Amino acid sequence: MKNEYDVVVIGAGPAGSITAKTAAEKGLSVLLIEKRQEIGDPVRCAEGVSKVWLRKHIEPDHRWICADVKGSRIFAPDGTMVEMAEEIAGGEVGYVLERKIFDRALAYEASKAGVEVMVKTRATGLIIENGFIKGVNVSHLGQSYDIKAKIVIGADGVESKVGRWAGIDTSIKPADIETCAQYLMSGTGIDQEYCYFYLGNEVAPAGYVWIFPKGNDMANVGIGILGNKSGNGKHAIDYLNDFVNDKYPDAKILEMDVGGVPVSGSIERTIANGLMLVGDAARQSDPITGGGIINAMEAGKIAGEVAYNAISRNDVSTDSLNEYEVKWRETIGREIDNSLIVKNTFTKFSDKELNSLGHSLKGVNFSSMSLLDLLYALFKANKKLLWELRVLF
Ligand code: FAD
Repeated sequence: MKNEYDVVVIGAGPAGSITAKTAAEKGLSVLLIEKRQEIGDPVRCAEGVSKVWLRKHIEPDHRWICADVKGSRIFAPDGTMVEMAEEIAGGEVGYVLERKIFDRALAYEASKAGVEVMVKTRATGLIIENGFIKGVNVSHLGQSYDIKAKIVIGADGVESKVGRWAGIDTSIKPADIETCAQYLMSGTGIDQEYCYFYLGNEVAPAGYVWIFPKGNDMANVGIGILGNKSGNGKHAIDYLNDFVNDKYPDAKILEMDVGGVPVSGSIERTIANGLMLVGDAARQSDPITGGGIINAMEAGKIAGEVAYNAISRNDVSTDSLNEYEVKWRETIGREIDNSLIVKNTFTKFSDKELNSLGHSLKGVNFSSMSLLDLLYALFKANKKLLWELRVLF
């Protein structure tokens, strides 16, 4: 480890590794630090991604793909099933990954591009001089170090502290975070070519249960509910246990994880002088699905390029880094804002209304429909929904 780099990236998730790789490919000196001893472990993710978007960043590799999914089966509270092909179902079905291997593969790609990677290295604060972030304080194997950088990237995930240290408001209200619990299970007997979603306020208030195939009769069975619906003696894990005991009483639990997904929509600011936030640290996950892997990678690519541009201009002020703010808001930011509107509508729906949506879509052939056809079919049968979502059109 040197004590000075062009760019220091904090956090080696998808956002951090892609940012670091992009900046290094442009010729910058880059350090990527990760507080855990193993990149990607423990996993806090259902591991579903869109094939098309993933391929923009990395060639699919059988070593980290557990399942190649054909579509989704979505269940309304009364059991009505709607089946959708993968390209209609959206960003979180396509491949189901093995993130322990995937995240490491992304860090490996970054290292091949010239990035220096340090594990068991925790950022503990920022070096700030005259209103500019000038580097990071880190702790590694009991020793403290100061590392200077022209630009610091906060890619430290949902529990991000980097934004706060830089004076950026990243706080999330309980109503803006999905609290999640998930089991890796064997013996559910699900069709391994489909992702399953269960809706309903009894099953998952203001959220959903997912079952994503992992190959060899294994599956991620998880739940996300809005933080403000958790409590009163019933948390996400209790809803998950009820679901699992009811549906798969004989299946076995092989792993468990819990975590949070920000569903707040775009925050006001993701830059400071000498600093950018990417991925979950910048609250860039999708408010309706909770998916954040692809958005993290997209934002990381933009941040890596902007870091190069700003350093080339010899100007890392917020005026210069505003290029990042503008570019991510024009792309993934738009999707996030639209999803927020849809989320705010759907989380108000009663089970009766969810059932009615299910009925209006039952039997529709989604494999021959575009997304617009789908929305049209949905809205034709549900005028209230059309009215609530009018701002999207
Ligand atoms: P992370 O992947 O969280 O990486 C942040 C990294 O920073 C971590 O490795 C962390 O250890 C490190 N770090 C934190 N603080 C420090 C520090 N001080 N110093 C050094 N390192 C630090 N998304 C999908 O697309 N599809 C899904 O199916 C899906 N399912 C999910 C299910 C659950 C239960 C949860 C909780 C999330 C799910 N997500 C899903 C969301 C997805 O996991 C995140 O959006 C994605 O991981 C964001 O990537 P990131 O790089 O921003 O953050």
